[in-house]
Amino acid sequence: MSAISADPAGQSSVVERIAAPHSGPVPFSVEFFPPRSEAEEARLWHAVRVFERMNPAFVSLTYGAGGSTRDRTVRIAGELATSTTLTTVAHLTAVNHSVDELRGLVGAYADKGITNLLALRGDPPGDPMGEWIAHPEGVRYATELVELIGSLGDFHTGVASFPEGHHRAPNLAADTGNLVRKLRAGAEYSVTQMFFDVEDFLRLRDRVVAADPEQGAKPLIPGIMPITSLQSVRRMVELSGSVLPAATADRLAAAAGDGPEEDRAAVRAVGIDLCTEMAERLIAEGVPCLHFCSLNFARATSEVLERLGVDTRGALAPA
Ligand SMILES: Cc1cc2nc3c(=O)[nH]c(=O)nc-3n(C[C@H](O)[C@H](O)[C@H](O)COP(=O)(O)OP(=O)(O)OC[C@H]3O[C@@H](n4cnc5c(N)ncnc54)[C@H](O)[C@@H]3O)c2cc1C
Repeated sequence: MSAISADPAGQSSVVERIAAPHSGPVPFSVEFFPPRSEAEEARLWHAVRVFERMNPAFVSLTYGAGGSTRDRTVRIAGELATSTTLTTVAHLTAVNHSVDELRGLVGAYADKGITNLLALRGDPPGDPMGEWIAHPEGVRYATELVELIGSLGDFHTGVASFPEGHHRAPNLAADTGNLVRKLRAGAEYSVTQMFFDVEDFLRLRDRVVAADPEQGAKPLIPGIMPITSLQSVRRMVELSGSVLPAATADRLAAAAGDGPEEDRAAVRAVGIDLCTEMAERLIAEGVPCLHFCSLNFARATSEVLERLGVDTRGALAPA
């Protein structure tokens, strides 16, 4: 298979970036999603510029279910890579794509100088818990996507990991085995699904190290988020098949109050406290990087970063 040549001025790898100097106690990264309207796009670029001043190790851009927003996603990932100073990771999913189309997508990213890709299987569009149907000429599991990307050129690939186990894995041992397979296939690091119980993350790290010390030495990057709405986090957690720990849910529910509308300001304040506490514990546990799911907003994550001691000067303009 012929190699795709990435832009020679291609970006540093995620592993290089998290080893580079940073201003706070630990490197951090930020996840964005492709905007669906002009107003959302303006909000995204505002957040991007705010975070850019804080020197994140990298930023990542998710890939819409089934490739429905493919052109916009590739355009925005390209603009992140070429119009900012940010190392950009493009998420890539296998849903509804043939191998030829996946190859074309990798090539489209390479044309924009993007050499960092997050290889994912993706969920069925519409219902993440629905039946997963492979494209007849596509790939079935993320491992195959890691191998495909590896066969196409000099890319740096990451994969997903799941502190609570993936919802389709029969048990945690099978889930760990799958992560190790993806790392052995060539992935250089993994980013976890968002979680709210640090113990789940630490147990995953222990399982990977026990299963394969060489793969366990690769960066396992925790995905976290400051909660700003109890209603939205409940929905997010339900969609991803994960659980909000009882103590976290109780603190948020107490802040939300029992009025007809949740007290957003109080929930936000508790959400920022909770995220800061988790981040401090993860830093004490020696994580290589903190990955923030920003939902394209800058302010709440900036507040957490500021409390952690990251240099956020000039970053708190209204989002
Ligand atoms: C950090 C992060 C970013 C994400 N970004 C996106 C995004 O941008 N767009 C999007 O649509 N989704 C995204 N997702 C969601 C992700 O696509 C789903 O969670 C998906 O269900 C699993 O993807 P995966 O790459 O882990 O799949 P895989 O690693 O392929 O695993 C899927 C399931 O198959 C099982 N399995 C794997 N190999 C085998 C085998 N050989 N035999 C039997 N069973 C096997 C696994 O145990 C697991 O249960 C993201 C998830 C994370 C954690």
